[in-house]
Amino acid sequence: MKRVGVIGGGQLAWMMGKAAKKLGVDLIVQTPNPADPAVKTASSTIFATIDDINATKRLAKECDIITFENEFVDLEQLFLLEQQGVCFHPNLIILKRLLDKYHQLSYFQSQSLPTPQFFPLDAEINSSQIKYIEEKFGFPLVIKARRHGYDGQGTFIINSIEEFKLKLASLQFQPNEFLVEEFVYFTKELAIIAARAVNGDIVTYPVVETQQKQQVCRQVLTPAEIDESVLKEINQIAIKLLKSLGYVGILAIELFLTQSNKILINEIAPRTHNSGHFSLDACKTSQFEQHLRAICGLPLGSTKLICSCAVMVNLLGYEQSQNRYLEKLRQIEQLTQTHLHWYGKNQFYPGRKMAHATTLLSRTDRSKAMAIANQIEEIWYIS
Ligand code: ADP
Repeated sequence: MKRVGVIGGGQLAWMMGKAAKKLGVDLIVQTPNPADPAVKTASSTIFATIDDINATKRLAKECDIITFENEFVDLEQLFLLEQQGVCFHPNLIILKRLLDKYHQLSYFQSQSLPTPQFFPLDAEINSSQIKYIEEKFGFPLVIKARRHGYDGQGTFIINSIEEFKLKLASLQFQPNEFLVEEFVYFTKELAIIAARAVNGDIVTYPVVETQQKQQVCRQVLTPAEIDESVLKEINQIAIKLLKSLGYVGILAIELFLTQSNKILINEIAPRTHNSGHFSLDACKTSQFEQHLRAICGLPLGSTKLICSCAVMVNLLGYEQSQNRYLEKLRQIEQLTQTHLHWYGKNQFYPGRKMAHATTLLSRTDRSKAMAIANQIEEIWYIS
């Protein structure tokens, strides 16, 4: 039996805990709060903040491998542990390439992979640099935090030069904190989850369409309705990234499909991801089980859908009281072929990911899937 340590104890580690039980893997979680979701499914927990290196040292003593559920880690400190023989998957050199969005985009470029145009923001930005950015990107353009962005936090769409100047003044940033990106007029946002095992085997999941509201993912539909050639290109991108990085584990790749049917990589996440939650109920092997299989040296599982089509809806927090949630959850659970995953968080605040629901359909019917997703949202947010 393998013992796997996870740095982070949110819903991703919670779902990995369930997969670990199925595989007979011991999952030990490092997370600060006894109320964190993964505490319930982990074999044991080290209660400490994510970047507490002494706690990670203790975690390493109890595990064969350490993996991650989020990116809020102190890499430099972790490197010291790696030098002492601690095994991390994905490994720390890879994380170093990926944790900063500017480094990520530069890496894609070095591999001739398609990205939006981008440019690092200089903390001492002067008027000629502002002029250069204005001419290169035009408006709208996008300012992004290079690290720690999630759920659209740290992503700002800027519509004019006046807004740009105001934003620069209000951000008061340090060097290497932000970058500027071309605004992409996408027709769809897509994502692919892929895994590479220690022995180099690779599997990819069906491509999904993701729908965001105010830059936060609300619905995920699979399989994506895209041309065969686009599908092929996305799979090739995933395989190229996994191989060139020498990656082990699950990798999530978010993409834009442009009006001219071109694919651009938005960003990648070196971990299990929200866009892969459908796999829990809709695929033969979930992304959580697959990640454990990949890092533990077990054979990778099938990524095939067990239905024709599936739609996943994120249920985000929006009020303080729990009473109404329970009633709404019961209603959602009663919908046909619908699987509800309630993360058991005891604090509710607007925008917080509290649960998700996935509905499986026996026929590929995009409009029916979207109607079901909207019905779930209506029950959750409006009724
Ligand atoms: P996060 O890392 O917080 O998820 P993203 O960089 O993925 O942030 O941005 C969140 C959302 O903002 C995207 O899903 C997309 O809808 C929008 N967005 C991000 N970058 C661009 C861009 N260059 N052009 C147009 N929209 C963008």
